[in-house]
Amino acid sequence: MTQVRVRFAPSPTGTLHIGGVRTALYSYLYARQKGGKFILRVEDTDQERSTEESSAVIVESMRWLGLDWDEGPEVGGPCGPYFQSERLDIYREYAETLIARGAAYRCYATKEEIDAAREEHFERTGRKEGFRFESPYRDGKTPDDPNARHVIRFKAPTEGMTAWDDLIKGRIEIQHSTLQDFVLVRPDGMPLYNLACVVDDHLMGITLVARGDDHMINTVPQILLYQALGAEVPAFAHVPMVLAPNGQKLSKRHAAVGVLEYRDLGYLPDAVLNYLVRLGWSYGDQEIFTREELIEKFSWDRVGAQASRYDAAKFSYVQAEHLRMLGAEELARLSVPFFARRGVEVKADDPRLIAAIPYLKPRATTLDDLAEAALYFVVEEPEMDEKASKKFLTPAAAEELRFLIDTIKDVTPFDDGALSAAMEAALETAGKAMKSVAQPARVALTGRTRSPGLFEVMEVLGRETTIARLERAIARAEASES
Ligand code: GLU
Repeated sequence: MTQVRVRFAPSPTGTLHIGGVRTALYSYLYARQKGGKFILRVEDTDQERSTEESSAVIVESMRWLGLDWDEGPEVGGPCGPYFQSERLDIYREYAETLIARGAAYRCYATKEEIDAAREEHFERTGRKEGFRFESPYRDGKTPDDPNARHVIRFKAPTEGMTAWDDLIKGRIEIQHSTLQDFVLVRPDGMPLYNLACVVDDHLMGITLVARGDDHMINTVPQILLYQALGAEVPAFAHVPMVLAPNGQKLSKRHAAVGVLEYRDLGYLPDAVLNYLVRLGWSYGDQEIFTREELIEKFSWDRVGAQASRYDAAKFSYVQAEHLRMLGAEELARLSVPFFARRGVEVKADDPRLIAAIPYLKPRATTLDDLAEAALYFVVEEPEMDEKASKKFLTPAAAEELRFLIDTIKDVTPFDDGALSAAMEAALETAGKAMKSVAQPARVALTGRTRSPGLFEVMEVLGRETTIARLERAIARAEASES
């Protein structure tokens, strides 16, 4: 059996869009499942629109997602180079071969001639559609000057049809009467997409081409090119678009569309992967998958043929589920940059951070939430919410906090269970209610009005820090106006 070889072939003209990533993901999962190769090829022949920054963003995005490629930029491989701009001679050679075989021709028609033919078509038919430029050079007309400005066109058939069995869309048949003699090489010698793509997919031994369904109009021209080159035609899978919730084209007006934006929001790569794969692919009603499960369970026949809509709420649900799957050590390590962003330096193995995470995890969605919720555990003195301080750290609260210190200071072990038991007994003896102690204590220990359970917070902070924070809050409360 031939080895599966699939590729992701982005054009470096912007960020790596989540819709594009979904196509890459499917190919990646398929390659990993079949023990095949996943190739990254940068299609940068459009010199006006391609940028090096964009190539770098694509590579960084793919690395962050863990979509490691077996051949491509940085890793090389036997079919390189993997940037199309470094393969121009190859495309020119293939264009010459096609001319030599009578499958392509040099067309010297000027823009004016083509416009005039279009005009004539409109007058004759009353329609703009259906125009097909019949170049006189197709049938052997020779130019006055062979060095004059010209393009290379493919000699497209005019009768019959071409069909393919798309792995997602089913059987597609296209009548040749709809085809133009499409351009392969521009006057400046630059190859156009169809030529470069087919030459590379052929030379790189690609067995299955997966790409966005906006490329379906290119598939018949490409199949004809393979045939003209005597090359084997790969399988095709055209992946539907990801639309905005309102059905429009998904853009940054609707959602974060660049993959790295999700990294910066504190999403996990496996959550992004899970959400994007599930968007348009299903496996019963299972929503949450690990990467390994996706590799095992993915199949093209379960990818829906219709466009799907981006759903931010669903995405954050999937993200939260993945956050909960990770252990405290790993989450601590991953959240370090989110503390740094807040000007707080914390070590990945900070014992307080690791101890706090199990209490914070159930309420966090992203790594950023986790860092925000954990701040008061890792700093010496929590930042005080002034409104909360004013409301709860009153002279009357000072007395409650002192009562709390007296109750807990010698409790051993200093943990949630022992602390709550001690407090319950003391409250009963004193005829007090937890309510009058709890909020001032929470503000004293965390600087905030919301946190995990009070005794859980104390357990993580430890005896010394707990008492120090309570003491400082008492001083503050006593100095406040009643
Ligand atoms: N460079 C094309 C794009 O980014 C690739 C299309 C394909 O995969 O064939 O849309």
